[in-house]
Amino acid sequence: MAQADVEVVEDMNVEGGPEAGEAVQVLRRVFGYEAFRGSQQEIIEHVIGGGDAVVLMPTGGGKSLCYQIPALVRGGVGVVVSPLIALMQDQVDALRALGVRAGFLNSTQDIEERRLVEAEFLAGELDLLYLAPERLRVEQTLSLLDRGKISLFAIDEAHCVAQWGHDFRPDYLALSMLHERWPEVPRIALTATATEATHTEITTRLRMAEARHFVASFDRPNIQYRIAAKNEPKRQLLELLREEHAGDAGIIYCLSRASVEKTAQFLVENGIAAVPYHAGLDPRTRAEHQARFLREDGLVVVATIAFGMGIDKPDVRFVAHLDLPKSVEGYYQETGRAGRDGQPSTAWLAYGLQDVVQQRKLIDGSEGDDAHRRRLSAHLDAMLALCETVECRRVRLLAYFGQESGACGNCDTCLAPPQTWDATVPAQKLLSTVVRLQRERGQKFGAGQIIDILLGKKTAKVIQFDHDALSVFGIGADLREAEWRGVVRQLLAQGLLAVEGDYGTLVLTEASGGVLRGDRQVPMRREPEKAARAARAKAKRAPVDLPEEALPVFEALRDWRGRTAKEQGVPAYVIFHDATLREIAVLRPASLDGLGGINGVGENKLAKYGQPILEVLAGRGTTDGGDAAGAGSGSDHAPPEPPDDIEEPPDDIDW
Ligand code: ADP
Ligand code: ZN
Repeated sequence: MAQADVEVVEDMNVEGGPEAGEAVQVLRRVFGYEAFRGSQQEIIEHVIGGGDAVVLMPTGGGKSLCYQIPALVRGGVGVVVSPLIALMQDQVDALRALGVRAGFLNSTQDIEERRLVEAEFLAGELDLLYLAPERLRVEQTLSLLDRGKISLFAIDEAHCVAQWGHDFRPDYLALSMLHERWPEVPRIALTATATEATHTEITTRLRMAEARHFVASFDRPNIQYRIAAKNEPKRQLLELLREEHAGDAGIIYCLSRASVEKTAQFLVENGIAAVPYHAGLDPRTRAEHQARFLREDGLVVVATIAFGMGIDKPDVRFVAHLDLPKSVEGYYQETGRAGRDGQPSTAWLAYGLQDVVQQRKLIDGSEGDDAHRRRLSAHLDAMLALCETVECRRVRLLAYFGQESGACGNCDTCLAPPQTWDATVPAQKLLSTVVRLQRERGQKFGAGQIIDILLGKKTAKVIQFDHDALSVFGIGADLREAEWRGVVRQLLAQGLLAVEGDYGTLVLTEASGGVLRGDRQVPMRREPEKAARAARAKAKRAPVDLPEEALPVFEALRDWRGRTAKEQGVPAYVIFHDATLREIAVLRPASLDGLGGINGVGENKLAKYGQPILEVLAGRGTTDGGDAAGAGSGSDHAPPEPPDDIEEPPDDIDW
């Protein structure tokens, strides 16, 4: 059966031939998009031509089309390996809405359902078949595949094969056998994880050295990156949500389950629709919250990192981190979940001294050998450097992935350049306090006590330990407490100070000596309150807005979409993306033809929704629009199965 593919391939003139044109035709007819983005066309033509491909592209870059279109153009069924069982139903629904014949096989189905899909596969009635990786370990599945005709293998979330990565899935290791068993079938491995280490591991473990490698730019220009000093995180968060993202869907990441719960409750008390999500919730609730996030407009999910992989909700308008992520890689993946539709979005992180102390503690206490701890430490250092930089955040981020760029104009440091100040003297005062405590008293203390000594505060603890008798007592009264905390945080970030043990006591590092001797200057970043405000003011002017007269039309379209989605039991974005509704609201096409010319309106959707949309535009069909887009919690669609693909972490922190 694979033989047929080879013949087709040999006949094909990929460069500009009819098949190359076919890809564009499918893009327009099925997906309703005018042109390919970035390197999509090159990748698609390469795979249509039978070549293997490794694709590194950021979230929202448009990876799915890279295998969906070749699967539609090549004869046979495209087999997509994906670890995201909980999302398969939605993926398949979205494809079916486009008129693509898609199905899936996973553990959530009963035998009847599975039989049906298998029969469709064998009869050649599918274009795409989604499989969980563990299915491919079962001989039954392999022999099923043998009996059908496969057009390609797509290995989605390919970074799951990387053993040291954060999403390692042992089942992925077995995928190297695909090539041995079906040597003629092209393979395309895709991931949004961009580091060289992961890239290398994917290549070797999947035996794809011979493949063509496509590394896209990892820039996400529509995401505004902002990292703020954590002063009053709740108030800061509320301000962000109210002033910039009222009514928007978003994800808020916290480190522990307890803070997830507390934050979600806090938001609800303040009138914001929010639900918690973490590995400690029972699977049903978790699945329900995820389903609501996907289906409703404008819901906020407060989550540990166990939430979000593979969620392709396109209109997530913000991702906020209330705790410091453990690595730049993780941070970039998580923030990448914002703005997949290309519309302006915000990635906001609040970070403070406590984060550094806590992360160091976690690393010290982590399982694994020294090499493992060193690796975690290096990840954290890179994250801290990003937080403390006075340069463009985006330049830093992309440099981390080995890509060069210029200042972006759309991050906090570009919008309101921070000042640097010479903190050498305060650094010396602080370090000598640490030295004196240790030398004169044989004591180690955490940041709180040391700052109290510097400020000359006679607290009960200061008196108890007789610390007001130290010669350094009160020598730092010229700075405020918050400023001292900033000094400690930045010394930690720069490796000029370290934390130790369960209590987060401060100790010197090898590099501290240079500062104490006066051989080394210590420049620091100053976060003026003004800078934050300026960035916010600019952010508010971001062009999410529509011309005034288009707004009611957009709202009416959203109402219609909400009702239609509910009736059909699919997420609203499966009907149409916001960007498409926006374009319709602005252009107000009067005919089906005009509507068909809009981005995101393909043949199938035009046939299905064209007439109702024209009616909404004509001012009809909105009469019963009181029940705005899925604002209620009820959905007749069964929630997807709980994400049993997420490993349960042992304690309150979802690693
Ligand atoms: P990824 O899997 O890389 O995160 P997706 O495949 O989900 O990204 O694509 C992100 C969004 O961009 C989707 O909403 C998709 O429909 C849209 N998209 C992809 N390619 C194009 C294109 N060529 N033109 C317009 N929209 C596109
Ligand atoms: Zn910038």
